[in-house]
Order: sequence, then C-alpha cells, then structure tokens
Amino acid sequence: MTGSTDIQEKIRKKKDKAIKLRKDRTWLSIVLYVVLFILFSTLVAAGLAAFLSFLTMDSISSETKTAVRIFDQVGDSTADGGSADLSILEGYGHDYVLLGKGNNVIASSGKTTWNRNGSISVFFDTNNGGFYSKAELKELEKDSGEKYETVELECYSDTESDVFFFEDGEVSVRLGSIVSIRGIFSALNEEKDFPVPLWISEDLPDGSTLIIKLNSVLTYKDLVLTMLFILFSLLFALLGTILFVISLTTRIRAHRRMTHLLFLDYISDNHNWLYFMVRGRTLITKRKNASRNFAVVNLVFSDYRNYVLCHSLEEGEAMLHRVYLTVSAELDPDTEMCAHSTSSNFPLILTYFKKADLNERLEKIFSSLTGIDTDHAFSFKAGVITLPSSFHKKRKDIDLDVEYNKACTACASIEGKSGIAFFNRTLVEEQQWLDTVHEHRQGAIENEEFKVYYQPKYDPRTNELKGAEALIRWDSPDFGLVSPGRFIPIFEKDGFIKEIDHYMLTHVARDIRKWLDEGKTVVPISVNVSRAHFIEADLASQIRDIADREGAPHELLEIELTESAFFDDKNSLVETITELKSYGFVVSMDDFGSGYSSLNSLKDMPLDILKIDADFFRGGNADGRSEIIVSEAIRLAGCLNMKTVAEGIEVKDQVDFLAKEGCDMIQGYYFAKPMPKEEFEERLSGGDAPEEDHSSGM
Ligand code: C2E
Ligand code: MG
Ligand code: MG
Repeated sequence: MTGSTDIQEKIRKKKDKAIKLRKDRTWLSIVLYVVLFILFSTLVAAGLAAFLSFLTMDSISSETKTAVRIFDQVGDSTADGGSADLSILEGYGHDYVLLGKGNNVIASSGKTTWNRNGSISVFFDTNNGGFYSKAELKELEKDSGEKYETVELECYSDTESDVFFFEDGEVSVRLGSIVSIRGIFSALNEEKDFPVPLWISEDLPDGSTLIIKLNSVLTYKDLVLTMLFILFSLLFALLGTILFVISLTTRIRAHRRMTHLLFLDYISDNHNWLYFMVRGRTLITKRKNASRNFAVVNLVFSDYRNYVLCHSLEEGEAMLHRVYLTVSAELDPDTEMCAHSTSSNFPLILTYFKKADLNERLEKIFSSLTGIDTDHAFSFKAGVITLPSSFHKKRKDIDLDVEYNKACTACASIEGKSGIAFFNRTLVEEQQWLDTVHEHRQGAIENEEFKVYYQPKYDPRTNELKGAEALIRWDSPDFGLVSPGRFIPIFEKDGFIKEIDHYMLTHVARDIRKWLDEGKTVVPISVNVSRAHFIEADLASQIRDIADREGAPHELLEIELTESAFFDDKNSLVETITELKSYGFVVSMDDFGSGYSSLNSLKDMPLDILKIDADFFRGGNADGRSEIIVSEAIRLAGCLNMKTVAEGIEVKDQVDFLAKEGCDMIQGYYFAKPMPKEEFEERLSGGDAPEEDHSSGM
C-alpha cells in the first residue's frame, strides 16, 4: 500500500512538473540572468574600487598623516597672528608652496612651486620641472639673467574634490580628498614624471594656503597594475555579457524546443494528451468562458485497428491525422480543443449553452468524419462527460485527467462500434461493483462464501425428482446473498470463471459422495461449465480428476454447456464432449434456442440432454408459435436420442403442455426455486415434487 502511495506521489509530482514547464515563462529566466549579471558587475566594480582605494590610500595614508601633522604645527605657529614658521617645513624635508591670500607665492621649496589661482597661464621651469607665478618668474629672470621657457598648460579642475590636474603629471589635492583616476590618467600622459607626485593643500588660520608635496607617491607599477586590472575587468565584463547573451538565447531556444517536444503528438503533428490537460485547464477556468458549459469527450476511431490490419500502420496513422484535422476544423479555436492521445483516442473539449446543442455538435462532428475517406464508411464512438456549469470556482478544482477517464468509461460502455454515451451514475456504480468483485473474489473463494444452491428437475408426468441443477450464490458478509447474474458475467470476462467452475464441480461432487454415503437416492446433478473453460484441451480430464478425487460416480454428474459455446472451435468442442461421455459424464446443451443456435451443431455434438430456454415460456405465445417450436424441439431431441429439460416453468398450463409433448424434465419455479443444500437434501429423501412450490429458495 505504501509502495502504491509512493508511486501515486511520484506520478503526481511528474504531472505537476510537466504542467509547470509550460507555465514556466521565459522571461523568468531572463530576469534571473539579468539579476545575476548585475550582481556580478557590482562585485567587479566593488572589487575595483577596493583595489584602487588600497593602492592610493595605502601608499599615501602614512604620508598624509605626516602632512596633517605639518599643517597642524605650521598652523599653530600662525595662531598668535604671526606668519607661518617655515623652519618646521624645512625640518620635514618636503617640497612645499605657501600662498598668500591673493594666491601669491610667499615661499616655496624644492624644484617646483605652485600657482594656486588655477589660471591657465602658468609657467613651467623646464630645467627644474616646476611652476612659478608670473611675479616669481620675473624675479628669477632678474636674479639669474636666464631666460625661462613659458609653457601654456592645460589645467583641469575637479570641482567636487577641488583637485587640479596638469598635463605634465603634477597632481595636487586638497587635504582629505581622494586621488582621482582622472588624475592618474593625466599623469600617465607624461611618462617622464613618474613616479607621480601628490600634492595636498590646507588653508592656514592666517588665511594663507600651504601646499605640500608628499614624499610617498603612486609608482609606475601601481598605475600599470591598476590599468591592467581595469582592462581585465572590462574584458571580463564584456566576456560575461557575451556569455550571458549566448547562454540566455540558448536557454530560451532549448526551453522552447523542449516544451514543443513535450506537447507534440507526432501523429496529429499537433497537440498530445499532456497539452490537452494543460491547455484544457486554462480553457475551462478562463474568466471570459465562465458563462459557457464545457464537456470533455473521448472520441474513438473504432475502425482504426482493422484499417491498420488491412492496410498499413502508416496509412492508419495518416487516417488518424485526417481525423484530427477534420475534428479540429469543427471546433472554435478560442474555446475548444482537440488532441490525440493513444492509438485511436482523441480527447476533446467542447463548449455548449444547452445540452441539445452539445448533441448537435457531436453529431455534426460525426457527420463530418464520415467524409474523411470515400472508400470506407468508418465508425466512431464518443463518451461524454459534462462539467459543472458556470461555476468558475468549482471548475478550478476539476482534474481533467479524472474527467477524461469518465468520458472513456462512458465510451467503453457503448456496445457496438458507433454511438454516443454520456457518463452517468449507473456507470460509476457498475464500475465500482466490478472493482469490488475483483477485490473480493479470491477471498470469497478461500472463505467458501460461494454457496451451491440446487434447483430440482421433475418429471412432468410423474412428478418424480429426476435431477437438479447446481447454481451458485455468493453469500457475502459485506453484500448479502448475491445472485450469479451479478458476478458470473464479470468472471466470464476476466477468466476467474475457471476457478468458479472448479469450485462448483468440487462441491457438487463432494455433496454427491456425502449423500451416497448417507444412503440417499441421488439424482444426476448438472453443473454449469463456462464456455471460456470449455476451450481448454484437458477440460474432460480435469473434471474426471475432480469427480474421482471427491469420489462421485461420473454418471451422477452432468455438464451443462451454454449454447453460445457452440460457436467456438467446433472440433475441440466435439472432442471434449466425446471425451466427457467416454468417462461416463452426462453432457447437456443449456439455453437451447436463446441465441443464434445452429441446428447444425446438434448434428455433430454427441449430447445427452437439450435444455430448452426459459424464454420460450415467457411473454406471449403469439399464434401458438412458441408451443410449435418447443414441441418440435422435443421431437427433434427425441429423434437424436436426447432427453429434454424445459427451463423457467412457472405455471401449471406449461407443465401440462410439456407433459403432453413428452418433455422429460421440468426445471422451474412451479416445482421449486433454487434452494440451499440442506433444503434440497430433504427433497432427495422425500422423492416426489410438491404440487406447487412455495419454498423460500432463490
Ligand atoms: P442457467 O444455467 O440457465 O440457470 C437457470 C437460471 O434460471 C437460474 O438462474 C435459475 O434460478 C433460473 N430459473 C429457473 N427456473 C426459473 C423460473 O421458473 N423462473 C425464473 N424467472 N427463473 C428461473 P440463476 O441461478 O440466477 O443463474 C443464472 C445463470 O448464471 C445460469 O443460467 C448460468 O448460466 C449462470 N450460472 C449460475 N450458476 C453458475 C455456476 O455455478 N457456474 C457457471 N459457469 N454459471 C453459473
Ligand atoms: Mg444451466
Ligand atoms: Mg439455462
């Protein structure tokens, strides 16, 4: 049971997965990829920023601290209104520039000086590689008498961080500001100036500005590393983008292809059963379809297998394809659908407003199907289940799989090759009963729930007990006493009838032995042996073995074979009957005249008894035709050396008529109903029949 639950769970999960697969929109994977890409890019950017900050801050942080100390000390020296104590600067050994309030250079040290006014007209000392203000330059020229080259420099200013960049690679920064990448780029333009000098400035309390050149600088290696890092990051991002686009398109295509294959039926070249389930569900639950009624149909191309047998599989499949196209052409593509499931089965969803419309729709589909092949008049049948009407919420709970199964059950209930059947409660009850019988049959046989009832047969002239028929009853603790009509046909279909026949033969043979041992006068007892059983080659020896095992004399056992069995393999039937007779058993033909019995079969079968079917004695006897047939059958049997038993005799007139016609035995309610063994045993002892039976048998 647990195993079965596991399997059920597995199937359910797989079904859900398949259903979800279609719903799994591609955009979801796109979103996922984009999110991943953004995440990845952010990580790269964060890594880059961290790396840069490490390069810059690490190398200059200690120098910056020194500069802060210098600014503090020089600033303190101006606190009491005096001018900056430049000896402090000399002590540290840094290049510096001190600018006055008007940005005039008050003092400077080192090879370079500084023009703080940000003007583009700065002058460059090519010999010393420094900047001078105009005034200073004039002073210099005056003092040294040398000519200085004046260079017009591009000056960039970063307004946010107050950083100025000069093309020759000098970089100045305000204290606390961060070296910008742009500065590094501009520095790179002038290779001669590596390592790149870093300047920081601070406004002193007296209004002057002190700019210090840091001793620690960004090295060429740092810059190359940074450049490489940036380059690789860009390459990486580019590669990532390309990979992302490729993988995304591949994934979308793969997904499309997979869903296409998953929902493709190669015969109809269209929708398969799975698609039917998924799309069908959407159709019946769509809000705009709420006012419509829906029906699920199982359409079956009944002649498919025969057509394949007579032609070829390929032609058969081509015909299925035509069926699909013909049916589809009859449907509204927005609200209805058709698919091909297995072999000749087509699940359909139809809409309708009134039930009469539905019948009309189906008939129209059927009539259009008659035209699919001019050379053949194909048969189709359909099972239909109507879904709950217009209750949108209720429809949501519908499992199309279950509904289609009901439509299939309705279709299977159609006897012939064509027709339309609607699913109803009776079908469910029948199926449930079938299921119950299957479930309980083995247990019933083991627990001996099957009981043998005996229906006596009397001589109509002498009222003498001449025999009896053993008839099965199922005395179930769950369902009470069940008559054979409710389970014998089921067992005949599923083959369990062989077990039943063995069971009955065994019990009857046992009873005969018992009665003989008790000194009773035992009459021949007939046992029904199913047609399905009769086709077994060793049936006669099986019966012989049972009789011998139980110790029943063969001549007291009669084997009743129903008339329909005579349509089976005649030769083997003759062989079995002959063999049975050679063992001394009596063989009778049951229900003679009920089906399309062939008188011809009587010619070849060495039968002992003809049991005239009860139907001759039911209903009307128009113009005495039944009587004519019965009396002729009795005469015929007599000519063939066979005895006759009339079944189903309920009234005295019939008894009188049969007595007059020379019928040997009568089996019917007039004399006795089938009765339990104990009751029958009394009759065995008692001998003659009561005038009319009022027993409690069944
Ligand atoms: P059958 O072999 O033709 O049995 C005769 C049926 O007619 C019995 O029905 C019996 O109760 C019924 N019957 C007899 N006299 C009258 C009468 O006067 N009026 C009416 N209305 N019915 C009468 P039962 O017992 O329901 O059996 C039905 C069928 O089930 C049998 O038809 C037989 O084909 C099958 N069957 C019964 N028992 C067995 C069995 O043990 N093995 C096999 N293979 N089939 C069995
Ligand atoms: Mg019978
Ligand atoms: Mg019968």
